[in-house]
Amino acid sequence: MLLKNKVAIITGAASGIGKEIAVEFAKQGAKVVIADLVSDAAKATVADITKAGGTAMSIAMNVTDEAQVEQGVAEVVAAYGGVDVLVSNAGIQIISSLVELSLDNWKKMLAIHLDGAFLTTRACMRAMIKTGRGGSIIYMGSVHSHEASPLKAPYVAAKHGLLGLAKVVAKEGAKDGIRSNVICPGFVRTGLVDKQIPEQAKSLGISESDVIRNVMLKETVNGEFTTVQDVAQTAVFLAAFETNALTGQSITVSHGWHMQ
Ligand code: NAD
Repeated sequence: MLLKNKVAIITGAASGIGKEIAVEFAKQGAKVVIADLVSDAAKATVADITKAGGTAMSIAMNVTDEAQVEQGVAEVVAAYGGVDVLVSNAGIQIISSLVELSLDNWKKMLAIHLDGAFLTTRACMRAMIKTGRGGSIIYMGSVHSHEASPLKAPYVAAKHGLLGLAKVVAKEGAKDGIRSNVICPGFVRTGLVDKQIPEQAKSLGISESDVIRNVMLKETVNGEFTTVQDVAQTAVFLAAFETNALTGQSITVSHGWHMQ
C-alpha cells in the first residue's frame, strides 16, 4: 500500500475524476476525505469506500467559501490528526466565446478554480506545517494549463494560473517538506465533458460526433479519451512520491495531445 495511513483531502470528489482518485487512494491505504458541494453523492462515495474496507469521511465544502474551507480542514484535523495530501480538484466548465462571456461567469470560473485552490492550499499547508509531517499538494490542471482552445477563456486562464500557484507552493513549502505538482489531463468522459459536447456542437455549428473526433481528440496520438483511472494512477504516484525531487512540475496525461 503506497499511501498507508496518509490523510488525503480531495475536493470535488463526489463525482468524476475526484471520486476515482478517492477510491484509488483508499485502496492504497489512505484515510480519504471527500470534500464537495454535493453531499448525497459524497456520502455515497464514502459508503462505497467503507464497504470495500477503506476509511473515508465526507465534508460539505464550497471551495470558494473561506469559512467552509477553514471549518472543513479543522474537522479533518480533529478526526484524523492532520493532513498529508491535498488534491485540489473541484472544477466546472463554461462554454462561451470571449465576446459573449459575462463578467459574472468569468469571476465564477476563477473563483472555483483559483480562489478554491488558494483557500484549500492555505488551510492544508497550515495544518501540514503544524504537524511537521510535510505533505503533497496536487492541483488538477488540464492540457488547458499548456494549450488554448476557443470558447474556454476563463478555464484556460485559470488552469494556466494553477501552474504558477504550484511553483510558488513548491518554493515556499520546501522548508517544511511540502511538495506541489499539477496533473494535466486530456479529455476524460465525466459529467463535465458530457455536458459540453452538445454545447460545443451548437457553438461551433458541427455534430456532436465531430466535436469528439475533430475537436476533443483530434490532436491525440490515437483518438482515445483519457480515463479517470489514468488520472487517479498519476495522483497516487505524485501523492506517494517521498521527496522534494519532484516538485513544482506538471505531468500531462492526454494520449499525447500535449507533449512537453
Ligand atoms: P465533474 O463535474 O465530474 O466533477 C467536479 C466536481 O466538483 C463535482 O462533484 C462538483 O460538485 C464539484 N464542485 C464544483 N464546484 C465546487 C465548489 N465550488 N466546491 C466544491 N466542489 C465543487 O468533473 P471532472 O471532469 O471530474 O472534473 C474534475 C477536475 O478535473 C476539474 O478541475 C476539471 O477542470 C479537471 N479536468 C477535467 C477534464 C475532463 O476532461 N473531464 C480534463 C482536464 C481537467
